[in-house]
Amino acid sequence: MVGAPDMGACLDRLAALGVEFQTETAPSDGEVCAVAMPVRLRSLVVRRGFGSIQLPARPLVDCRLAEPLALWVGGVVAPILAENFSSALKTVVTGPGFECRNRNREAAGKISAHAIGFALDISGFELANGRALSFGASGDPAGQAVLRTVRTAACGWFTTVLGPGSDAAHEDHLHVDIQRHGTSERYRICE
Ligand SMILES: [Zn+2]
Repeated sequence: MVGAPDMGACLDRLAALGVEFQTETAPSDGEVCAVAMPVRLRSLVVRRGFGSIQLPARPLVDCRLAEPLALWVGGVVAPILAENFSSALKTVVTGPGFECRNRNREAAGKISAHAIGFALDISGFELANGRALSFGASGDPAGQAVLRTVRTAACGWFTTVLGPGSDAAHEDHLHVDIQRHGTSERYRICE
């Protein structure tokens, strides 16, 4: 397994967080698309008895995105959903993570954070009691209010958070990524 120099340390931290994953050979769709620390995610674990949270799409992402994802889902999303709906978070419904394409699937322009494994699209969450929460407009009002809360909190872990209301490309899902904007690691795009 060849990866970026500090991949081993990232994998160790991911394992310590209870993330179930497999390392993968770096995808190479085209010259500009490359994931330096590729991991395919199976599930996340939340402490304090929430149990395991499945990622049925098995997204392929860079280890450095997987780490804040596990911290956000485990530390914020699962507890908030459990508090509001008296049921454990069971599933995070996502896209594939890695996709070799430009931003917003446009023919020209900048390469997407998805093309280097730094981004994941999340369409919603499913709870143990069968309740489904979707970022799309069809969700119920109580669910939408809670989703707004976890969306705002995501800005603590990710450098970009886009969703319904941001632009037409994000009307039915939350996009989170860890791409650095300019020279500051603290700069956020949270729309
Ligand atoms: Zn996206």
